[in-house]
Amino acid sequence: MTESHHDNPYFTQSEDPSRVQQTEQEIAAHVRGILELIEEDPDREGLQNTPVRVAKAWRFLTQGYHQDPAAVLLSAKFEVDYRHMVIVKDIGFYSMCEHHMLPFFGKVHIAYIPNGYVTGLSKLPRVVDIFSRRLQVQERLTTQIKDCIQEALDPLGVMVVIEAQHMCMQMRGVQKQNSITTTSAFTGVFKKESTREEFMNLIQR
Ligand SMILES: [Zn+2]
Repeated sequence: MTESHHDNPYFTQSEDPSRVQQTEQEIAAHVRGILELIEEDPDREGLQNTPVRVAKAWRFLTQGYHQDPAAVLLSAKFEVDYRHMVIVKDIGFYSMCEHHMLPFFGKVHIAYIPNGYVTGLSKLPRVVDIFSRRLQVQERLTTQIKDCIQEALDPLGVMVVIEAQHMCMQMRGVQKQNSITTTSAFTGVFKKESTREEFMNLIQR
């Protein structure tokens, strides 16, 4: 699922300046082509630097392809004798849907019950960032976060809930209201309805 580059879990392409520049120039050339095709003038003042800015923005928004979320969790894995629910809720995220390459964004709530090991609390939002900064569908984003935590920490169970708004629905007028799409995925002890309810009650406070 993940590949590590060198020994650095935070490795990104930006560490190879010549390749970064080449990639940005190529993306910018495509963006310029799009501007022409939508009958804009890529040479008018306001648009002159737009292709390069878009290329830089896109590289940022897709940097998760070059990062290893499991390595982030394992970099701060601690042995503990705690077998109650650990919850990190309201983790903000921004991702891009793979169908329209438009943003979807919202909140991720994560719970797990440790089986001897926990990770640093700041690491869970990092994992959310890494999976979000790829082209995604909300369902896969949910299961990837769940699977990564399950594999790295081997807890008694993990549950991930994502609430998101999709610009491809709202901006294109498919669905006019600010509707929220909710997805969830879980393992282990969260298969029990009462455990899921406990988590849902805690995040709704
Ligand atoms: Zn979409």
